Amino acid sequence: MPLPEKALIAQIRWMTQTTVRGRGRILVGIGDDCAVLGLPPEHEILVTTDFTLEGIHFRRDWHPAESVGHRCLARGLSDIAAMGGEPVAAFLSLALPHDLPQSWVGRFTRGLISLAEKHGVTLAGGDTAESPNGILADIVVVGSVPKGKAILRSGARPGDRIYVSGELGGSAAALLQMQTQDTQRHRKRSHSGGAKELARVTTGVSPRAYSRHFYPEPRLELGRILREKELATAMIDTSDGLSTDLAHICQESHVGAELNSVLIPLARVGKPARAVNLDLALNGGEDYELLFTVPPSKRIPSKIAGVALSHIGDITRSRRIFVTDPQGVSYKLHPKGWEHFRR
Ligand SMILES: [Mg+2]
Repeated sequence: MPLPEKALIAQIRWMTQTTVRGRGRILVGIGDDCAVLGLPPEHEILVTTDFTLEGIHFRRDWHPAESVGHRCLARGLSDIAAMGGEPVAAFLSLALPHDLPQSWVGRFTRGLISLAEKHGVTLAGGDTAESPNGILADIVVVGSVPKGKAILRSGARPGDRIYVSGELGGSAAALLQMQTQDTQRHRKRSHSGGAKELARVTTGVSPRAYSRHFYPEPRLELGRILREKELATAMIDTSDGLSTDLAHICQESHVGAELNSVLIPLARVGKPARAVNLDLALNGGEDYELLFTVPPSKRIPSKIAGVALSHIGDITRSRRIFVTDPQGVSYKLHPKGWEHFRR
């Protein structure tokens, strides 16, 4: 059973105090009615909020609790990265079923706090309640960016080059793998009905072989450098999938795009590692890479902050998004990201 609210908050407070202290911007953290945050002079506030729901964003039989905590915060940090901002504080609201083991909550919190610690973010408040059904976590991340310098989705112009960091499709590949195993298990169950048969089907996938899914690394340093050097005209993080996220940039910027399929960095996953197929790279979500546009006058190195960058296409005037295949044939790319894989 999870700890009662007071004890849970005390435990989280203790965990945050022993690990994270932020960058001196948390004037008052957990323990008062509100947190008090100090911002650097001439900065603006960034705020993002994300739900993490059991059965929608994770499954307890698929995801270790540490991974759920990590991913919960990573989503918010990735949004801050996509603006070129720096994270300051996180706020966590948790609704937990009464029969959830306390060890699950402890591991969830540890996963979340170790990512927070890595990026100098303080867990500065939150709320807890009992959930009638399943685990619900809502995270708010507050960040800051110098006045007027946030990198928006609306700044792309025809002729800009389109870049993406890291590799795509790795996260969706893990999901697909787990779904496939589930189907196999159900088939075995209905055919043999035996628990022994069932045990022979492998369960779960290795978080190490699919780390991009279980422990995604928000590209904060890359986002900050792109902003500081004024290299990007528009930016978004790939949370829904390239086809959907690029469509967001195009819509907000009133432009179109042309991608070259051979330039899209396909994730290598599993053991032995194999490249994912193009469909996963185009439409799989939750890679939390940065997708950004660069004016023709700016040069982009092959790596920034240790993260590989790929030039995958160009922004066009046409308002439509096309992909050119290796034979030189162009086809229209429809945004069918994340939702398509979740089912
Ligand atoms: Mg985002």
